[in-house]
Amino acid sequence: MKYAFFSDVHANLEALKAVVVDFQAEKIDKVCFLGDAVGYGPNPNECIELINEIAPVKLIGNHDYAALGLMETDYFNQYAAESMNWTRTSLKRDIIEIMKKFEIKAEFDDIMVVHSSPKEPEMWHYILDMNDVEENFRHFNQKMCLVGHTHRPFIVSIDSEGNCTVSNRSEEKINPQRRYLVNIGSVGQPRDGDPRSCYLIYDCEKQIIRHKRVAYSYDITQKQMASLGLPEYLIERLAVGR
Ligand code: ZN
Repeated sequence: MKYAFFSDVHANLEALKAVVVDFQAEKIDKVCFLGDAVGYGPNPNECIELINEIAPVKLIGNHDYAALGLMETDYFNQYAAESMNWTRTSLKRDIIEIMKKFEIKAEFDDIMVVHSSPKEPEMWHYILDMNDVEENFRHFNQKMCLVGHTHRPFIVSIDSEGNCTVSNRSEEKINPQRRYLVNIGSVGQPRDGDPRSCYLIYDCEKQIIRHKRVAYSYDITQKQMASLGLPEYLIERLAVGR
């Protein structure tokens, strides 16, 4: 079994399409979506439709939650709030019905998946430093917990004594003695300085996890955003992955 985990598409259809082509090239058996289908980008309806088609596991993210009107956007920055207003007016009714079925967390094959953090998935906490990582290891029992949300990929493992190790590689062999907390990165708005889309492959037979980067034509997304009058800052950041 070969899994692909992807998240934070943020209505960037060009990026999503490139990643879906890569799923086929990698011969992925099962695709899991970890939330934030919409917000920031120009194609919310198309992205939800495609995600719904390809992913048997679908989670809801904070931007999706906000788009459904389930939370206020007070804590969103100016650009996120502006694009969220546009997203809310653009979503079609049948697409909203699809989004409402997305789940807050899922557990299968000794894996937990959530958008933000295993601690309190519906509170949208960010896992930003080692204190956050260590705390969150106490909130799941599975071999692995996979998250999105910060748009910054990482792999951290913990041994039976509670010692955490941060990986400096994009690929790791799973150690039977350790548990893993992994940020899978972002498809539609990477923020780690690499503008290419990022997702995670988990090869169960080989026991390998790997962050996969996929180049896409971000200039197409940028042009669409400009023609819709979306914030300049959100357009520019796609080219630099920040
Ligand atoms: Zn996001």
